[in-house]
Amino acid sequence: MNKITLGEEIYTCQSDESVLDTLIREDVDISYSCQKGTCHSCLSRSIGSAPPEAAQKGLKDTQKRQKYFLACLCYPEADMQIKLPDQSEIFSQGKVMIHEMLNHNTLLLKVECQDIKEYYAGQFVNLQRDDGLIRSYSIANVPQQDGVLELHVRRLPDGRFSEWMHDQISVGDNIAVSEPQGHCFYLPGRADQGLLLVGTGTGLAPLAGILEDALKHGHTGPVMLFHGARTVADLYRIDELRKFAQEYDNFSYIPCVSSEPAIEGFTAGRADQVALAHMNEWQGWRVFLCGHPEMVSSMKMEAFMQGVAMKDIYTDAFVAAG
Ligand SMILES: Cc1cc2nc3c(=O)[nH]c(=O)nc-3n(C[C@H](O)[C@H](O)[C@H](O)COP(=O)(O)OP(=O)(O)OC[C@H]3O[C@@H](n4cnc5c(N)ncnc54)[C@H](O)[C@@H]3O)c2cc1C
Repeated sequence: MNKITLGEEIYTCQSDESVLDTLIREDVDISYSCQKGTCHSCLSRSIGSAPPEAAQKGLKDTQKRQKYFLACLCYPEADMQIKLPDQSEIFSQGKVMIHEMLNHNTLLLKVECQDIKEYYAGQFVNLQRDDGLIRSYSIANVPQQDGVLELHVRRLPDGRFSEWMHDQISVGDNIAVSEPQGHCFYLPGRADQGLLLVGTGTGLAPLAGILEDALKHGHTGPVMLFHGARTVADLYRIDELRKFAQEYDNFSYIPCVSSEPAIEGFTAGRADQVALAHMNEWQGWRVFLCGHPEMVSSMKMEAFMQGVAMKDIYTDAFVAAG
């Protein structure tokens, strides 16, 4: 058991507890969401000793050097003195410019955020509500001059944040937006490499951004996008993606539906299964997997088994908050 000092208070961290577990148990007001080291919303800072290396996984070198760490991944090896960052260090103010539906349950949200101009499409931002609730959403567009981020938000039944975004937020409202994070994006180079994009639901958001980025950079290799949902009504951007496929000879779009019989123009089956059936040659491909965590992890394993190098597999699992 180690002691965690936060301001004037000292808490005891049990041997199987992360710093986040301890602070939640002690009712400390700390922001958190995924609790798996993905969303970075529990970013904290050690004062004094360096935090355990594992607690800095995925942080930037500059953050590591300043002893930032993720409370959810931090299992202290010694007593720690910590500081929770001021929210203004993490969030800047965004303004909702567009709030409209992409289909019956997916919201297109465009948020102007002048402080965020440098990012890669496919990264994600954390949004924060006034009561502190935080959720992550992927960026679906390449950086724009006007600083507008495009987000796709699926309404989840009884989902605290998504329902609020659908029902309560409107054009002109302010919303707190974190700096972009994550490693699932397109890097120019190896333009003739095959790109396989597989996404479920709003997993299309990062993939749409990655696709736009790749085509804008003149990617010449085959680019295949498998977008899956339960029904045709749950898919979106179908016409736009079909048009893209007509414009770019090297781009194929395969919309998949898993809970409806085959309809002309759509492939019956789960997107990952359909992609597996389509792909003959995997070696040398770059693979992007976004959306449902189970699809992402099983397809990641499958791609690796088929010969794709781990460094060429990029994932964005939409892990739900605990
Ligand atoms: C890196 C990353 C990127 C993401 N990108 C996107 C994106 O682009 N678009 C997008 O739509 N989402 C994205 N997500 C998911 C998003 O962050 C939220 O998790 C999602 O919107 C749900 O949040 P919520 O507050 O609405 O639902 P929550 O309130 O967190 O609930 C989630 C679901 O669990 C159910 N639930 C909640 N509590 C319980 C309970 N106690 N028992 C049983 N069921 C329960 C709810 O009914 C709901 O259906 C991303 C996640 C990550 C980690």
